[in-house]
Amino acid sequence: MQLIRDIASLREALFTLRTGGGGRIALVPTMGALHQGHMSLVRAAKERADHVVVSIFVNPTQFGPNEDLDAYPRQEAQDAALLEAEGAAILWAPSVAEMYPAGFATSIGVGGVTAPLEGAHRPGHFDGVATIVCKLFNQVGPDVALFGEKDYQQLAVIRRMARDLDLPVDIVGVPTARAEDGLALSSRNAYLSVDERRRAVELPAAMREAVARLEAGEEANGVLAEARARIEKAGFGPVDYVELADAISLEPVRTLAHPARLLVAARLGKTRLIDNFHVKSTK
Ligand code: AMP
Repeated sequence: MQLIRDIASLREALFTLRTGGGGRIALVPTMGALHQGHMSLVRAAKERADHVVVSIFVNPTQFGPNEDLDAYPRQEAQDAALLEAEGAAILWAPSVAEMYPAGFATSIGVGGVTAPLEGAHRPGHFDGVATIVCKLFNQVGPDVALFGEKDYQQLAVIRRMARDLDLPVDIVGVPTARAEDGLALSSRNAYLSVDERRRAVELPAAMREAVARLEAGEEANGVLAEARARIEKAGFGPVDYVELADAISLEPVRTLAHPARLLVAARLGKTRLIDNFHVKSTK
């Protein structure tokens, strides 16, 4: 695996890979601190391409002023070893200066699907995400790019951007990898104390219960309120949202005429956790 930090070397390495027989390239964008969720994306990428490029870039523009940019875990050597073992071809790990040269003044703003949920609670977040992912697509020129359903709204935003801007890349969503007790794997789980980690399991447990009740036809507002109460009782707070949304547009829904998604964001101590589950249409 090649560890590359500048765009010129990246272009050279990609040219060699593409011309060296079997040219399909997959991109897995990450912020590092890799866990088995990320590795499931790399494995899915290997099934769809000849060469896998993984990027690690903790993107400052997608963090708000009071968010955890400085505290975000960084462990590049450990990440590189995992990726090497999994057979990635390139680890693309640019500096902030390489990504945002002096005078940088361009931003991609995706409308619609960015408005609710994370967009409402993290102003500017999705502009940062869309801009960096668009740059990564232009730098790597992947045939396919893989994103986790863990960040469900992000996946929807990237799909929208790729479609609206005619980006020549297939966007593939990969199901959420979970710990045995059901908690979605996340680099931010490292912030949880032992006691918080024990209580965190109530988040997916409350959500699974809510999904079952919704699919059984119970009235949505009551189910959502009870899920919120169960999450708060476990020590979460504030709970930013417990929302039932259309699976594609992410607009709030209260009936299951179409496939929907249950999405939650809540803080446990200083850690903000997000999770989401599919909710079947009952029509
Ligand atoms: P991050 O490093 O958190 O920005 O995540 C990089 C990519 O990995 C994103 O597409 C995430 O959605 C995905 N990802 C993060 N956690 C998981 C997980 N538990 N299961 C599947 N994909 C994940």
